[in-house]
Amino acid sequence: MTQKLTTIKTQIQRAEQEAGRKAGSTTLVAVSKVHNADTIRPVLDAGHKVFGENRVQEAQRKWPALKADYPDVQLHLIGPLQTNKVKDAVALFDVIETLDRPKLAHALARQFTAQGLHRPCFIQVNIGAEPQKSGILPEQLPAFLTLCRDELALPIIGLMCIPPQGQDPRPYFALLQKLATENDLGQLSMGMSADFPVAIAEGATHIRVGTALFGQRPAKT
Ligand SMILES: *Cc1c(COP(=O)(O)O)cnc(C)c1O
Repeated sequence: MTQKLTTIKTQIQRAEQEAGRKAGSTTLVAVSKVHNADTIRPVLDAGHKVFGENRVQEAQRKWPALKADYPDVQLHLIGPLQTNKVKDAVALFDVIETLDRPKLAHALARQFTAQGLHRPCFIQVNIGAEPQKSGILPEQLPAFLTLCRDELALPIIGLMCIPPQGQDPRPYFALLQKLATENDLGQLSMGMSADFPVAIAEGATHIRVGTALFGQRPAKT
């Protein structure tokens, strides 16, 4: 596991260098979904601190104990968030990467106020405008940002996307980068095990890597 972590870090460094980017400008979000605490601990022991989970309930089973042992962990929610789980999600996750609709924006704003917490959020963009995928459509992003930033005062730090499967992801990463620039957003969460070097070349500040770090997941997700 830690061998894989070292390999990925080297690949990140190389991609940053080739893109002429600053060393260390990419954050590796280690996607630990489906894997149990015994699998996650060695990565924590190796000093890695940023993790991603896609289900609130699964994370609630694993992470309170891990966070108690490793208090400076930063946990990212990278999966869909139902409004009835917002309270729990805000309590447990440090960063919400999947803000994808107005109803959720309102629910997050209410919980941030109720809990006195302001979790940084990424807006998930449906970058390929795929009907089955969640996310804000590129053309609806300015209006959604007005709602989030101006009306609800949410701490929006960037954009997140999952490009269409089986296509060259590069133009989609480039489009997300363009949208972020146009809308004054500095952070970009894009790129997974199969394509993170391309994402780094296109400006990713956060890459979400599961399989390359923890190995193949059982069929569940
Ligand atoms: C599972 C998941 C990942 C990690 O994918 P790998 O291909 O295993 O690296 C990244 N982002 C999201 C949103 C995911 O659900």
